[in-house]
Amino acid sequence: MGRWWVVPSLVAAALVSPGCTVDRDPQAITSLADLVADVRGLADAVEDRLDVVREREAAVLAAPCRLPDRLSGIGPGAGFPGVADRLPVDWLPSTGTLRIAVLFIDFPSTPADDESTEQAFDAGFPGAEAYLEDMSAGALDVVFLPHHRRVRLDDYLRLTSRQLVEAAVQHVDPQFDFSLVDGVAVVIPDGISWDGPHALMLDEPLATVDGWEVWRPVVLWSRRLLGGAMVAHEVLHQMGLPDLYDAWAPVLESDDPTHESWRHVGIFGLMGGSSPFRINELLGWWRWRLAWLGDHHVHCFANGSGTVDLTPIAVPGGPKLAVVPLDDTRVVVVESRRVQNYDLDLTGGGVLAYVVDGSIASGMGPVVVLGVEEGPPDERHLLQEGESVAIDGVAVTVLESRIGGDRISVDVG
Ligand SMILES: [Zn+2]
Repeated sequence: MGRWWVVPSLVAAALVSPGCTVDRDPQAITSLADLVADVRGLADAVEDRLDVVREREAAVLAAPCRLPDRLSGIGPGAGFPGVADRLPVDWLPSTGTLRIAVLFIDFPSTPADDESTEQAFDAGFPGAEAYLEDMSAGALDVVFLPHHRRVRLDDYLRLTSRQLVEAAVQHVDPQFDFSLVDGVAVVIPDGISWDGPHALMLDEPLATVDGWEVWRPVVLWSRRLLGGAMVAHEVLHQMGLPDLYDAWAPVLESDDPTHESWRHVGIFGLMGGSSPFRINELLGWWRWRLAWLGDHHVHCFANGSGTVDLTPIAVPGGPKLAVVPLDDTRVVVVESRRVQNYDLDLTGGGVLAYVVDGSIASGMGPVVVLGVEEGPPDERHLLQEGESVAIDGVAVTVLESRIGGDRISVDVG
């Protein structure tokens, strides 16, 4: 038994450091199981500290690529919000638990008698929950809390978006504890011609109920929830992400996928609102910004040329993003896409390269896919082995493509 006493004391001497202490008196260890548990506990503690050190090192290396938001908090931008960009209230949390109340309303002129609130909820919210949690890789737990007693408001024609949400919240307030939630979604019948914003950007709260201020509401049509795509899109706005479709293009009357509305990112990324508005893998840049990818997932080419092996964005683990600074407001981002997970609609995989500009507003092209000469971006614009794309002296080349990812080179001229 004697030699076993040596092990914990050696391990303790080797591994214990400030913040990692061992209270156990060796004399109290009375069994081999206790001993093994003790050593394992120490090893886990050391591993945790090493993770912290590695993430700090990764943060230093990635820092030059954390493009700042240049919109000064006037709306959702593509860059990382900084202290100077503080809004009156934070965006909805992207990590931890996010609770959103779901309220259902209709109007005397447009009763929703043919659809239960349960049907409307099931049409979009479970799908959005699954999508957001999947994209967050476990960083976010989404809880939608439906209030299954539909509220009938006065004629909507007299209500602005702000008044509509405010009226819904105040009607439901006596039966619902709003202090439990971070946000609110209001579901309206499909038949009305309401065209207000779906994600309300406010500079003062709508209402105060239960000691809680209503800051970041979303409004959705019950029959356009699109399996959760629309819900997730609007919730992501309230986490600070901008629209990537061209909001200034002529109004789209159909689901034409070649319409110029989709010219910036096409089928890539839920915030592009690609047509048909299908749910697909969220761009890796957003995942980094929302802390769903860590700095250790990012290879920042701040010091010039090099190569990196990227693993597909749709699967966990490994390097996910190559980021190359272009100037004060722009970076090139490179990620690997495969026909996996929410990208099953792709007809083939490859490497996606895009420019992120922190000075361009939502709906005006803050993200643009590189290498697109004709039509909105689609699978044709995923780079294959041997192909390259260049912008402003930065060239990205796919050196090798395998099932498990892509080796790319970055050449900074
Ligand atoms: Zn949008």
